[in-house]
Amino acid sequence: MSKEDAIKIIDKIKGDGRVTLTEYESKNILAAYNFPVTKEKLARDEEEAVNFAEEIGYPVVLKIVSPDITHKTDVGGVKVNVKSPEEVKTAYNELMGIKDKIKDADIHGVLIQEMAPKGNEVILGMTQDPQFGPVLMFGLGGVFVEVLKDVSFRIPPLTRFDAEDMIKEIKAYPILEGVRGGVSSDLDALVDCILKLSDLSVDLSDCIKEMDINPLFATEKGAVAVDSLVILK
Ligand code: ADP
Ligand code: MG
Repeated sequence: MSKEDAIKIIDKIKGDGRVTLTEYESKNILAAYNFPVTKEKLARDEEEAVNFAEEIGYPVVLKIVSPDITHKTDVGGVKVNVKSPEEVKTAYNELMGIKDKIKDADIHGVLIQEMAPKGNEVILGMTQDPQFGPVLMFGLGGVFVEVLKDVSFRIPPLTRFDAEDMIKEIKAYPILEGVRGGVSSDLDALVDCILKLSDLSVDLSDCIKEMDINPLFATEKGAVAVDSLVILK
């Protein structure tokens, strides 16, 4: 997988006259850069949903997949910790019921996804600055980004040293070291993720307007993108 694979995915979506990618499509772009993403499959009916859940292994997460729904939680579009075939069926049907509430939404199906191991939830983002071009952002998820605006920025391409600096610069950094019984995060894995996003941003700067990985679970050993959103130019 490489830049060419990512471009193929992007061209197909552009061909459909779309600029907003689903979580599933966004993670396919990430995976083209060997960025670690959750194991997941797109189910189009109840039977597929159950089969994929068995394949992935319980517990699983079910999510609505639609380019018209970018904040899935707001519409009840995320079901975590789903533990049995019966629960999968119920969750699947509840999610497909969103179709009735949001009439014009183009629903691609339901994503069946592995539950990510416990970790700190961080955010990685990329936006375009009219002067500097792509700019990368890093921060801790939730209130740290939304309320405290505790984030760091860098202009790619980044060196390993830049990426480390970017992580250590935020005020909430001690949390990643695992204060007060919290999970300590694998910093090398986080650095690798930032460097992969740096490569992707430089390569695809002409096509991508903005993207985020929110959250990226930074676990004790490794990191995994749990949600992602790519918006094309
Ligand atoms: P939204 O579109 O609302 O941002 P997300 O896919 O980010 O939806 O899911 C919302 C939250 O649910 C995440 O921030 C995370 O805390 C939790 N979550 C989602 N997917 C998983 C997963 N695969 N494993 C564990 N927790 C998850
Ligand atoms: Mg999210």
